[in-house]
Amino acid sequence: MTDCDLCGRAIPTVIPVRAIRPLLKFAYPNGVWKGLCETCLDSAQKTHLTVDKNQNSCRKNRCALCGDKTGVFPVKLQIPDFSKGVVKKDVYVCKKCLKAVDEAYIGYKREQIEQKHAHH
Ligand SMILES: [Zn+2]
Ligand SMILES: [Zn+2]
Repeated sequence: MTDCDLCGRAIPTVIPVRAIRPLLKFAYPNGVWKGLCETCLDSAQKTHLTVDKNQNSCRKNRCALCGDKTGVFPVKLQIPDFSKGVVKKDVYVCKKCLKAVDEAYIGYKREQIEQKHAHH
């Protein structure tokens, strides 16, 4: 089991997203891999779709994936909670990581479609 890097949910496999950490650029020139669950990937991708229209990026928060502070956008999470069912929470992700999420999302959806075709 692994934990989703955004909501902390424990799932068998996470979807890998490559985050470039500005502070670790020299140690990790190709970025570090973060893992997201499908729910978080979906909502982060939705945020990515609105980024170009949404000029109100927030500079007070850090990106939940790479720690960057140069303009982050809110991603709505739904965190499973034992007593309350689901808890809604906002995290902030920077534009670069949202782009990485979008790439991961496209690859993931493509894989799902290919798997579906393989069964027929
Ligand atoms: Zn998650
Ligand atoms: Zn980031």
